[in-house]
Amino acid sequence: MTSRVVITAGASGIGLGLARRFAAQGDRVAICDSDAAAVADMAKALPDVIAEVADVTDETQMTAFLGRIEAVWGGVDVVCANAGTGGPAGRIEDLDYAAWQACIGVNLHGAFLTCRWAARLMRAQGAGSIIITSSTAGLFGYPLRSPYASAKWALNGLTKTLASELGPAGVRVNAICPGAVEGDRMDRVVAMEAAAGGRSEDTVRASYVTGVSMRTWVNVDDLADMALFLASPAASKVSGQIIAVDGHTDALVTS
Ligand code: NAD
Repeated sequence: MTSRVVITAGASGIGLGLARRFAAQGDRVAICDSDAAAVADMAKALPDVIAEVADVTDETQMTAFLGRIEAVWGGVDVVCANAGTGGPAGRIEDLDYAAWQACIGVNLHGAFLTCRWAARLMRAQGAGSIIITSSTAGLFGYPLRSPYASAKWALNGLTKTLASELGPAGVRVNAICPGAVEGDRMDRVVAMEAAAGGRSEDTVRASYVTGVSMRTWVNVDDLADMALFLASPAASKVSGQIIAVDGHTDALVTS
């Protein structure tokens, strides 16, 4: 059965990978992203996907984007609240308040605006699957990354709470916790953490598998596999779960 799928931050990285995979299985897909150039590239590469510029922290932009989707589709089956930013790296005493707020804003406030819309439609439909992108940073303490870890732990709380609120209406809510994902973003994170901690990038990169029992990074398709499962009838009794796709992290080793 064809699903109607909305993905935030869908023009690159994990969101783009999710969009490609949902579209490839025949679903109708709409994405938003704050990067206008990336949205334009995506519109060319995947012309059947609705791609719009919207910042997940901007209520006016999100209301307009989601309202247009609602007008065209009349409902939604799957919503991936995927947008998140890594925020600053550093000891808390050195962190800037504006950078803290920006990190919490994209990860948590963006998910609020997205899930609020999804919940209203899905409750009325009596069905739907919300998939929130959390992180292994939401499962452990994460030295030098307190805003990001705090935001991701908050998303796990949001997931559990929305699953309880929406379960009686037949709506499922789950979170995926990616481990370190191969790609541009982790390249940037490794560089930032190396600078903040006075270590080489190779040392930081190696540290990302030290605490992972399978000694592996993950890739976008590993996450898409999980999202497609959570969106599917095969997961019809799966809700309220915080699911790591990370090769099994024992501990976030940061030194
Ligand atoms: P990314 O940095 O590659 O960014 C993906 C997209 O997000 C970009 O196109 C960017 O323009 C968009 N974006 C950023 N801020 C936005 C905003 N305010 N509104 C709309 N779009 C915005 O990120 P990614 O690696 O694809 O990460 C996606 C999600 O996965 C995030 O929630 C992230 O925290 C989480 N995650 C990523 C990793 C990883 O290793 N990459 C690991 C764990 C969790």
